[in-house]
Amino acid sequence: MSQLEPVKLRQDFPILSRKIHGKPLIYFDNAASSQRPKQVVEAMSNYYYQHHANVHRGAHTLSVEATEMYEEARRKVARFINAPAAESVVFTRNTTEAINLIANSYGRKNLRPGDEIIICHAEHHANIVPWHLIAEQTGAVVKAVGLTSERRLDMEQLDDLLSKRSKIVAIAHMSNVLGVVHPIREIADKAHAVGAVMVVDGAQAAPHVPVDVQALAADFYTLSGHKMCGPTGAGALWAKAEILREMPPFLGGGEMIRKVYIDHSSYADIPMRFEAGTPNIAEAIGLGAAVDYLEGIGMPEIFAHDQAMVRYALELLKPLEGIELYGPEGADRGGIIAFNVLGTHPHDVATALDGEGIAVRAGHHCAQPLMRALGVQSTARASFYFYNTEEEVDRFVGALIKTRDFFAAFA
Ligand code: PLP
Repeated sequence: MSQLEPVKLRQDFPILSRKIHGKPLIYFDNAASSQRPKQVVEAMSNYYYQHHANVHRGAHTLSVEATEMYEEARRKVARFINAPAAESVVFTRNTTEAINLIANSYGRKNLRPGDEIIICHAEHHANIVPWHLIAEQTGAVVKAVGLTSERRLDMEQLDDLLSKRSKIVAIAHMSNVLGVVHPIREIADKAHAVGAVMVVDGAQAAPHVPVDVQALAADFYTLSGHKMCGPTGAGALWAKAEILREMPPFLGGGEMIRKVYIDHSSYADIPMRFEAGTPNIAEAIGLGAAVDYLEGIGMPEIFAHDQAMVRYALELLKPLEGIELYGPEGADRGGIIAFNVLGTHPHDVATALDGEGIAVRAGHHCAQPLMRALGVQSTARASFYFYNTEEEVDRFVGALIKTRDFFAAFA
């Protein structure tokens, strides 16, 4: 296994000592939302107990302290993704809000009838529906790249789709169902060659894969704090400063303005232009603490651990009859396994596993087009993080065999 010490790290997560239905909890639903270490909760409590006030508003000490903590969190997020400057990190509630911001601001300003937005068949609805909404309003068209038989993004099809009409290419860095890490740099180079911008949905990758927005040649990168040990309600949008500066506001209100008159207003510089109203201050600070925590473990180590977990689990799962697995194998595979027990509804599988204390997700995973491409209605999904162990995988596989055999008796 990898260098990192899951058993030691688990001590930072009180929830992982819980029992569910009398059995030790195995939390394999990290792709939906990870758990939080004490360090993150304590950073937020410390803020609330000692420093809370509104940010960017007051001359009094607490407001200055709160502002400094909030801006420090922005600098941490910038460092985490190797952004050249913190000013182009905008705090949002989550990835969904970040992509809606891009669509409503950049998209509304730049898209014309007939322009094309290129996504892929494996996208999460958060990276599909905002593009539908803006396409309806601008006359742009959404097109999607298919997958190869191994269920990787089909780069030849991407070449065929890209043209002078392509204005936005929006692809997930890592699929929330297939676990595959897409070759973003290669895709970004292709997008740029036809004059399109590259939007990267980093909701799954940011928690698990070392991210360098400059090396990826991304124009936009989005993430959700709650999937990377941070609180709910804190996410981020990063965009190249020169692009962000040209973008109109998405939401209007306090703090995003320069001057307001009765009949018109002018807007603040970045990033404030995109943070109307009182932000989620404690949550942003919690996200900053999560970044510190993850960096303390090491993102390369986290990704290596996820990959070791997935390899180990696949070794045990592949020989099993009656279990269907989805997603490619290889160095580009992160710690997610979507699977089905043939003939059994994934909700029944997830409920049976819950009876064994094992939390997995079941459903379409907000990826209905992908479910159609895979020819299924839904799947179950196990997703790992640095606090999961091989022993947990052993128990999971044992419980899955029991579940399969139990339902087979009724078939
Ligand atoms: N994109 C991907 C690939 C995801 O997996 C998710 C959530 O599961 C999202 C976007 C949306 O994230 P959020 O609900 O935090 O906005």
